[in-house]
Amino acid sequence: MNQLSQLWTIPNPEFSQTFLDDKASALFERLRQIDVAYSQVRFASSMAAEDLVLIDAIAHTKSAISVFTLNTLRLHAESIEMIETVHSRYGITIQQLLPEQASIEAYTRQYGENGFYDSVQAKEQCCRIRKVVPLAQALQGCQAWVTGQRHGQAVTRADLAFKEYDRERGIEKFNPLFDWTEADVWSYLKARSVPIHPLHLKGYPSIGCEPCTRPVRQGENVRAGRWWWLQEQKKECGLHQT
Ligand code: SF4
Repeated sequence: MNQLSQLWTIPNPEFSQTFLDDKASALFERLRQIDVAYSQVRFASSMAAEDLVLIDAIAHTKSAISVFTLNTLRLHAESIEMIETVHSRYGITIQQLLPEQASIEAYTRQYGENGFYDSVQAKEQCCRIRKVVPLAQALQGCQAWVTGQRHGQAVTRADLAFKEYDRERGIEKFNPLFDWTEADVWSYLKARSVPIHPLHLKGYPSIGCEPCTRPVRQGENVRAGRWWWLQEQKKECGLHQT
């Protein structure tokens, strides 16, 4: 069978216990560094695999990093269910940031409910009102924010660093998993029995809004299912401009 005819499946790497322990310890240390150096730090979570690694690590280190998610009102039902899963497992309450209803109505009048398929400009405007504006509101008063981004996720993330300055919002930005591989992520989740988003079991390595995310095939980039109708360089939603 052609490799590309099969859907992506969760990797099952075999790492030594020593490697896993060292990887987890280094991550915990990164979070402690952030926690000690800054007050008012927030983590933007989409409930995908990388973000569950960070939620587990935040809980383990008892960091004062608060967790929120951008509920665009176009998410998969499973993403909303993960909020309760996280609360049950860790006692962490994930705040949901919603877009403004007036902005959604104006967008729908101008572009149509699913106008983001029709042009890059319409897609960027939808992401702006449903993600970028709520993110800016979420980060008001913060000194730093945390993301689950990794180098290997996309060409647009190849130059990622642990610490960056977010010029758009005027605060520090941390990517504690910047140098982690996909195998590192899944080995951590398995080793620590971390709950995972149900769509990972259906061929989705990356999870965003329901109409803009689809499963990927074996061998494709892990973000190939995000805005699959666009070129790779256009596959960001405006949250990660530094
Ligand atoms: S991912 Fe799609 S539905 Fe979600 S905000 Fe962006 S364009 Fe809109």
